[in-house]
Amino acid sequence: MTRTRVLILGGGYVGLYTALTLKRKAGDKVDITLIDRRPYMTYAPFLPEAGAGSIEARHAVVPLRRTLKGVRVLQGKVTGISHADRRVTAQTDLGEGLTLDYDELVVALGAVSRTFPTPGLAENAIGFKYVEEAAAVRNRILGRIARAATTSDPALRKRLLSFVFVGGGFAGIEAFSETEDMAKATLRYYPELSPEDLNFVMVEAANHILPEMGPDMGEYTKKELESRGMRVLLSTTLDSCVDGHVELSNGEAFDADTIVWTAGVKPAPVLADSDLPLGPRGHVSASPTLQVVNEDGSVVPGVWAAGDGAQVPNLVEGEGDWCAPSAQHAVRQARHLGANIAAHLAGEELHEYKHKHLGMVASLGLNKGVAVIMGVKLRGWPAWVMHRTYHLSQIPTVNRKLRVTLDWTIALLFRRDMVSLGRVEVPRRAFEEAARG
Ligand SMILES: Cc1cc2nc3c(=O)[nH]c(=O)nc-3n(C[C@H](O)[C@H](O)[C@H](O)COP(=O)(O)OP(=O)(O)OC[C@H]3O[C@@H](n4cnc5c(N)ncnc54)[C@H](O)[C@@H]3O)c2cc1C
Repeated sequence: MTRTRVLILGGGYVGLYTALTLKRKAGDKVDITLIDRRPYMTYAPFLPEAGAGSIEARHAVVPLRRTLKGVRVLQGKVTGISHADRRVTAQTDLGEGLTLDYDELVVALGAVSRTFPTPGLAENAIGFKYVEEAAAVRNRILGRIARAATTSDPALRKRLLSFVFVGGGFAGIEAFSETEDMAKATLRYYPELSPEDLNFVMVEAANHILPEMGPDMGEYTKKELESRGMRVLLSTTLDSCVDGHVELSNGEAFDADTIVWTAGVKPAPVLADSDLPLGPRGHVSASPTLQVVNEDGSVVPGVWAAGDGAQVPNLVEGEGDWCAPSAQHAVRQARHLGANIAAHLAGEELHEYKHKHLGMVASLGLNKGVAVIMGVKLRGWPAWVMHRTYHLSQIPTVNRKLRVTLDWTIALLFRRDMVSLGRVEVPRRAFEEAARG
């Protein structure tokens, strides 16, 4: 029997779970290849905790090769998709070109940070979508605190201790509050500094934060953060940050060494150059069966899509509504997609994806959180416990669950490790200095 070649682009939530489901349901009929830029799936909900040092960064990711036994896993950047030729091109980090042919394609490339042409942004800011970014933000904050404690220049100290986050959605607020919590906890080792020296600023263009959780939870969170000395500036935009000089639309200007951009996402850019039908905001258009569809609703044979890079109808809300980009949808869509490909190969009927969002849980630092679960609102410690319990249950593999549990237990007993490993970003510096004599 000829096996169907299934190519999965992206090894995040959708890629990983589609591969696992398809392997389980139709393993004898398919040869699965998965390609991702990274050798791991990122469990994004744990990035804020990784950024805060409550979880070891490596434990917030799931190694693809180890988890996807029987799947050919490649590491490279997808550079072109020509569905007319059933061909994908990619490039390894070393610049080698790859050509991948397929019978069925799964587009699971997710999204990238959505930026604006703000002067200085590309040169000075960092995103918070990947584990390397979370680790770098942590190193940056801890490193700047250490330097601020050493300098006697008050202007430099102010700049070092100014941390600006742009974008008060779910991920931005979690990253903002978790890292501030870590920064404040670190000060116990820095008698030269006081909590008032920290300048954590959230800049949000809308007149509210946490739109995913509703106005009252957004208002509660704002008050909670402000009570900790953090500033939440609503209806404000970042106009410029050339050389770290931050200029805001409210007229405020100050220097900041750390600017974290969490102002939303857009579909993977490679989709724009493909021959796949895209929606108005660049997502691949998908039907409720997660097959890619043309504008007139006709199915494009041999290609499937789900997750943050796809526009999937939200059947719960009805006509004209799309599933929001969330892990909750991505995991369920992926399982659904894997099952539908298996059904398609067996000549069986496909099923439509329909899921009512259960709610959201967010951590705002140790013992602090907000949650809305099936309409029930939780604040403070109960919400934080829900956040940890839920995400521990959701992170793939027993291996990762145990490692994260151990991280939390060790942090509880010995406190979080507050050391900056910023020098891993310049590993050759010491050797170069030594070699120069
Ligand atoms: C900080 C943070 C916290 C979050 N917290 C929550 C939460 O608590 N609850 C929730 O429901 N959602 C949360 N989300 C959103 C959730 O993570 C996403 O909705 C989910 O990851 C989408 O899954 P995906 O498979 O579509 O994309 P991803 O998981 O992003 O996977 C896409 C994959 O494609 C790869 N890729 C991209 N472009 C290329 C290319 N050109 N070539 C090769 N590979 C490529 C990437 O490396 C990545 O592995 C959070 C997101 C962030 C950033």
